[in-house]
Amino acid sequence: SQQKITLASSTPSLNSKPADAGSNSTIAQQSLVQQQGTSESDEKKKNQSIRLGKSFRIGLSGPPGVGKSTFIEAFGMYLVSKGHRAVDPSSARTGGSILGDKTRMTELSRHDMAYVPAGYDICLVETVGVGQSETMVADIVDMFVLLVPPAGGDELQGMKKGIMELSDLVIVNKSDGALVDSARYAQIEYTSALKFVKAITSYWKARVIRVSSMGGPEAGVGLAWDTMKEYFDIMESSGELQKKRGHQRKIWMWRQVSSELMDLLHEDTQVRKMADELEAKVLRNEVMSGAAAHQIVEKFMKGMSTS
Ligand code: GDP
Repeated sequence: SQQKITLASSTPSLNSKPADAGSNSTIAQQSLVQQQGTSESDEKKKNQSIRLGKSFRIGLSGPPGVGKSTFIEAFGMYLVSKGHRAVDPSSARTGGSILGDKTRMTELSRHDMAYVPAGYDICLVETVGVGQSETMVADIVDMFVLLVPPAGGDELQGMKKGIMELSDLVIVNKSDGALVDSARYAQIEYTSALKFVKAITSYWKARVIRVSSMGGPEAGVGLAWDTMKEYFDIMESSGELQKKRGHQRKIWMWRQVSSELMDLLHEDTQVRKMADELEAKVLRNEVMSGAAAHQIVEKFMKGMSTS
């Protein structure tokens, strides 16, 4: 339907261009292409201006087993139960994964679910808590939500401080049955841990809430949405959201620059030859890594200026 198309194209940066087999495309490149809309047909571009509502991108992260899939299911059902519609996520894709090349970034995005509750086009991006993926996701979404298990202490110790710094909302999941007490404990622990984390914006202080993804809307899924909505409205009305998105576009521009430069460098046969030799020397500790890097860049620049 028209609405489905509108939703899909109203979040252009979250829709991937068709898989670009064999290229060195990184998610940065793909994202930029998407934002510029160069992969969109004119017809699709026209549809972009017809919008259902405000596009709201939510990143969801957390360790395996914390209940991300279950939460997304409950969250989606909640939105639907409020008389809104869930949109078949496959219709919100233009091919491949929203974050780009699935084969290279398998763990980065498992889901890209889209929902249409009154006034909001919600795009949910799920990431498994590994390595760089949270930072990547945090750099494309409006709000970053971290799901944690109902245990404090050791779990919290092991939690990377970095991910807390990215989080606008921490959800202690599985706050039900015998786990309620430890969920309460975890909520207190995370709340005090957040006091030592620098706020991302002066307009919003990260919160910790408890949710049971299996207990229906009264068990916190509704509160989760209310909190997200509150965040979005504050960020949008203050102009902070526009600023954040601008900053994110800037980040992706530079990622694109790095990635294109690296592609050019690797395509340069002269540089490649020299780099192979230098790599061997660096392995044998005959050349310092910094000096080798410098030589490679010099060679590349010389080649560029004479070509
Ligand atoms: P994911 O790996 O983060 O996607 O986690 P899943 O959604 O697959 O959930 C992992 C396990 O935790 C499953 O057995 C779920 O049934 C269970 N689970 C998820 N949410 C809840 C919850 O709110 N309460 C309880 N008690 N169990 C949950």
